[in-house]
Amino acid sequence: MNAMKLIALWVVGLGLVASRSLGATAATNYLWKAGVASAVITPQTNMWMAGYAARKSPSHGTAQDLFAKALALEDEEGTRLVIITMDLIGVRPWLRQFVEKHAAERHKLPPERLLMNASHTHCGPEYREIKEGENAAGHYTAFLQERLARIIDEAVGRLAPAQLSQARARCGFAMNRRRNYQLPATDPNAKKAPNPDGPVDHNVPVLMVQSPGTNLCAVLFSYACHNTTLSSVSMTNNIPRYEFNGDYAGFAQETLQNGRAGLTAMFMAGCGADQNPYPRHYMVPYVRPLEFAQHHGRTLAYAVEAAMAAHVRPVRGPIRAALEHVTLERVQKDPKRPVPARNYPVQVIRFGDDLTLVALGAEVVVDYSLRLKRELAGKGVVWVAGYSNDYGGYIPSLRVLKEGGYEAPDYKPDIEERIVSKVRELESRLRAR
Ligand SMILES: [Zn+2]
Repeated sequence: MNAMKLIALWVVGLGLVASRSLGATAATNYLWKAGVASAVITPQTNMWMAGYAARKSPSHGTAQDLFAKALALEDEEGTRLVIITMDLIGVRPWLRQFVEKHAAERHKLPPERLLMNASHTHCGPEYREIKEGENAAGHYTAFLQERLARIIDEAVGRLAPAQLSQARARCGFAMNRRRNYQLPATDPNAKKAPNPDGPVDHNVPVLMVQSPGTNLCAVLFSYACHNTTLSSVSMTNNIPRYEFNGDYAGFAQETLQNGRAGLTAMFMAGCGADQNPYPRHYMVPYVRPLEFAQHHGRTLAYAVEAAMAAHVRPVRGPIRAALEHVTLERVQKDPKRPVPARNYPVQVIRFGDDLTLVALGAEVVVDYSLRLKRELAGKGVVWVAGYSNDYGGYIPSLRVLKEGGYEAPDYKPDIEERIVSKVRELESRLRAR
């Protein structure tokens, strides 16, 4: 090898080292401010756990702490946004109202610039509203509310110059958990679930926050899959054992944080209502469910790492946000027992032309994520979250509604169009501003 070739290799090598040492962000001149805070929200005493009615007793302990985390962002115009993620079953409407009120009163933050998302872990507490006249002392909800108010205050209080960037990768453990309704009834697999041919969204969008001159300080990532690796029954020596933990999403966050000092990793649940992580529960005789949750968590964390090592794109402002409700009507099967319509929240947040974040309430099937990304394509990256700002029941697409099954409560067939048109309306209104 001649000297020129050696020098050329050395220069190329330096280039690689330099690009890696930039960390995860794509440098731009756009100057954000960001602040991050987190708090443990594991119940201090054993409680009934959320998500499965089959459990026979309250929790027995904690396998992994549960967290609430807040990311406050401020664009160059001084417009602020707060994103809260929680290792909980869902965002109960009254909890949203409490946090919304606190954010408005203390920080003048309007509702459209507050996004709350729950990981949908089924190994968190079955938390409920404090009833009128009930003593709040020692009540889990009072504890949870105090922690949420605190992390918002801390995240806003810590706002400091930062850069935002985004990346994406894929992660494959989610499979469509419904049966294949396309198969004729005579097919031996017609009634079998999960469905390896069913729609999935294996994309892992990643938002990175880095303060100048420091390591990555926050990473927000998403996956469209039920956070239910453990299912309802965990056994130790054939005795039921219910332990608080964040399921795969909790272990993904823990893995990322263990690997990177000073990092707050935040999981945002995607449109995974009809998706489950596989394998799960006791599907493999020699693997305990908790091991699967840890394994899937590491797999998802490594997808986030892969994303950050791949194409990284800048995220610039300004922040533009809208939050409105659509009415979702139910089919009235029994006139004596009318089912009320649902007031359903749809939130759209635009980060300049670089990123559009759509946050939908409750348990949304994957069709919404796939359709919205397709229809809003070409206007920067589109990220669709479910389990945001509201909780309770499934939100089927028209396809799922027609097929029927577990994820198809009796909504009127216009449900999908109502939601999608509201997203499109808000998105185009924000773009025009
Ligand atoms: Zn669910």
